[in-house]
Amino acid sequence: MTLAFEDFAGQSVHIARLREDFAAGNNVHAYLFAGPRGTGKRSVARLCAMTALCRGKDKPCGVCGPCRRALSDTHPDIHTVLPPKDKKTVGVDAMREVIAQVGVRSFEDGAKAVIFPRAETLTPAAQNALLKTLEEPPDGTVFFLCTDQPSALLRTVVSRCRVVRFHPLSTGEAAARLVSLGETPQRAREKARMAEGCVGQALAIDDARLALRRQVTEEVFSVHAPDDALPLLSAYREDRERQEQAMDVIEDAVRDALLAQAGAASLDEAGYAPELSAYARAVPLRETLALQGEIVRARRMLGSNVAFASALEIVLLKIAEEYQRWPW
Ligand SMILES: [Zn+2]
Repeated sequence: MTLAFEDFAGQSVHIARLREDFAAGNNVHAYLFAGPRGTGKRSVARLCAMTALCRGKDKPCGVCGPCRRALSDTHPDIHTVLPPKDKKTVGVDAMREVIAQVGVRSFEDGAKAVIFPRAETLTPAAQNALLKTLEEPPDGTVFFLCTDQPSALLRTVVSRCRVVRFHPLSTGEAAARLVSLGETPQRAREKARMAEGCVGQALAIDDARLALRRQVTEEVFSVHAPDDALPLLSAYREDRERQEQAMDVIEDAVRDALLAQAGAASLDEAGYAPELSAYARAVPLRETLALQGEIVRARRMLGSNVAFASALEIVLLKIAEEYQRWPW
């Protein structure tokens, strides 16, 4: 796998500066990388650690021993700390353990890095234990706290970190990046739209999810009369996971239909069935807003444990009603 700072230039204005600082040894000892999921925070943290550990001339060279170990996630001086499989948080014991590990001499006699890919999972006690270390950092150790929820971190911890913000790419840029990683142009555009420019999220979208997006919008926006709703409701009745995915698809579809109707974005190559575009052309925007209101109502019903069939029914009946007035 290759990994380069340039790949992330669009996601933070600080990428070039990070590279320079780590290559020259001018980095600080704690960074907070904040931004939505899938914007490259963890990858850039790995690159920074790799640069600090690189023995090549033009750092990170990507070919020296430390670089290769960093790229294959086997470098003993790069610690990545995530919640254990059966837990949702990183507790104080795990934090003490990693602090003890970086307190001893590094394996390769160089820098050491600790990456928290989901820093919001650190418990307050774990954060307080980390805070003591950040106040008196061990020589040559750098901590990376990556999170999409910076408000979950103690203010005292944040104040010890240099904050670097990460942003999604435009969908065009994200699609180009996906193509460069081997995706076909059409799927790249659909996934980039679906992930709203967050490349990491787009990479996690499999073909089954793309197919579901198309299928659900085809089924739902083909409801032309209340009777059309029945087979659909019974098809979804048994499958809880599919129900939730379907509601997510419908919510995205209606939001994107609104954007298209307002002239803000096209529905082309967004991965939906043509029935959604036909709907968006035929129905006035105010009715799509009303449909969105029904979706909010359906979501609320699901939150209070009402069966999916009746929550979805609200949405489908609204679509049937609109079809009667503005057939598409
Ligand atoms: Zn190197």
